[in-house]
Amino acid sequence: MQLPREVIVGKGTLNRVPEVVKRLGLKGKALVMSDSKCYDVAGKTVSGFLEESGLAVDFLLVKTMTIKDVLALENQIKELKPQVLFGVGGGTIIDAAKVSSGSQNIPFISVPTTVSHDGIASPLASIKGSDKPYSILAQAPLAIIADTEVIAQAPWRFMVSGCGDVISKFTAVKDWKLAHIENGEYYGGYAASLALMSAKLVTENAELIVYRQDEGLRVLLEALISCGVAMSIAGSSRPCSGSEHLFSHALDMIKSNHAMHGEQCGVGSILTAYLYRANWQGIKKTLKQLGAPTTAAELGVKDSDVIKALELAAKIRPERYTILHKLNLNAEACEKTARATGIIN
Ligand SMILES: [Zn+2]
Repeated sequence: MQLPREVIVGKGTLNRVPEVVKRLGLKGKALVMSDSKCYDVAGKTVSGFLEESGLAVDFLLVKTMTIKDVLALENQIKELKPQVLFGVGGGTIIDAAKVSSGSQNIPFISVPTTVSHDGIASPLASIKGSDKPYSILAQAPLAIIADTEVIAQAPWRFMVSGCGDVISKFTAVKDWKLAHIENGEYYGGYAASLALMSAKLVTENAELIVYRQDEGLRVLLEALISCGVAMSIAGSSRPCSGSEHLFSHALDMIKSNHAMHGEQCGVGSILTAYLYRANWQGIKKTLKQLGAPTTAAELGVKDSDVIKALELAAKIRPERYTILHKLNLNAEACEKTARATGIIN
């Protein structure tokens, strides 16, 4: 079980980088990776504080983050030999930092500039261009420094996506339990409760989040971090990724990156909650309240894409048993589900 040692969330927390460096006993050389936009909003500040703390800082500006870029990054780490890697940016940068630092056996510190999904604190990462459309186990961050002033500058849509990712844990946990009951798969009650609690917290505070104040953003951040911790405890993405995530991955395969991960998972959760005969209306209501997509049109995909994705979902990861594997829906049943929930007309 790998858990972060320091989690610092709040306004102006980038100022606390020196304090974290001291407490964690970081010495020698640090590598900071970021893209040009995130460098301006946070990377520059982080590098400055690291230098002030007596560390030698190398900076790596990244443009794209495919599997090739990650390999190049690993070579850079081999050459520069930093003691620690700081990933400053959105989900993609954090994921690349996680994978490359993990393979090179150095710790990484997560400095998110957006909150679009739960990868900011989890030990899992997904990399574009790899042979797996879903997340793989890498390593958990040694510390997370989340500055709400920085994150608030990101487009509102990122926050909405983050909410969708958290809300989708309602069905992810149901799938985990189902796999436990029907297949005897390991089920961790504590990790499941943590993921479920995060989903409840975001649902209960939807109004506060929509208000776009610091307090709402903190609720979302803490929920996303708790989801990351739940995955660390479980040792897999099980508590946070079920049939609704498979739907999102399938949609990515059909219509590459049309909507954001959390937006697609939210819609996926409406569909699979319906299949569980659970409160799909409640999930839909919360997503609507947050301004998240709840229809194919709002996701920017065709009705037929939704049907195809729902049918394909169970096939991309046969070992991850979910309600979709149990029911083995044909195209007609998928269409009926999408219509009944109002995802398609
Ligand atoms: Zn997710």
